[in-house]
Amino acid sequence: MSDCLFCKMVSGEIAPDKVYEDDDVLAFRDINPQAPLHVLVIPKVHISTLNELDEANASLLGKMYLAVKAIATQEGVAEGGFRTVVNCNRDGGQTVFHIHLHMLAGRGLQWPPG
Ligand code: AMP
Ligand code: ZN
Repeated sequence: MSDCLFCKMVSGEIAPDKVYEDDDVLAFRDINPQAPLHVLVIPKVHISTLNELDEANASLLGKMYLAVKAIATQEGVAEGGFRTVVNCNRDGGQTVFHIHLHMLAGRGLQWPPG
């Protein structure tokens, strides 16, 4: 999508602080980190929200989590642990409408989240 911030990162129009990339997935550091490690993991294809997930694109979620696993090892947080979050629409607090998984690590995280 031409007016989507994260699609512009996939196309290279905007250069993210990249931590991981493969054929299907891109991951980069969040510009407003909420933890010492705050990475966003996105599919390279545009999917607006979790509500648009379907049988045809659902395997991308597994690929995003395989990226999380690789990043956890790469960034040294696999053993200490981390949290993944996907926000959806208004009540979920979604602000960028290209599906993304937040990966947070490097401090003790509170539960329940706000
Ligand atoms: P969400 O609120 O779940 O839609 O998350 C969107 C995230 O994108 C927020 O945590 C923002 O800080 C992050 N974000 C917005 N613009 C950028 C950018 N240019 N580079 C990296 N992260 C961004
Ligand atoms: Zn997009």
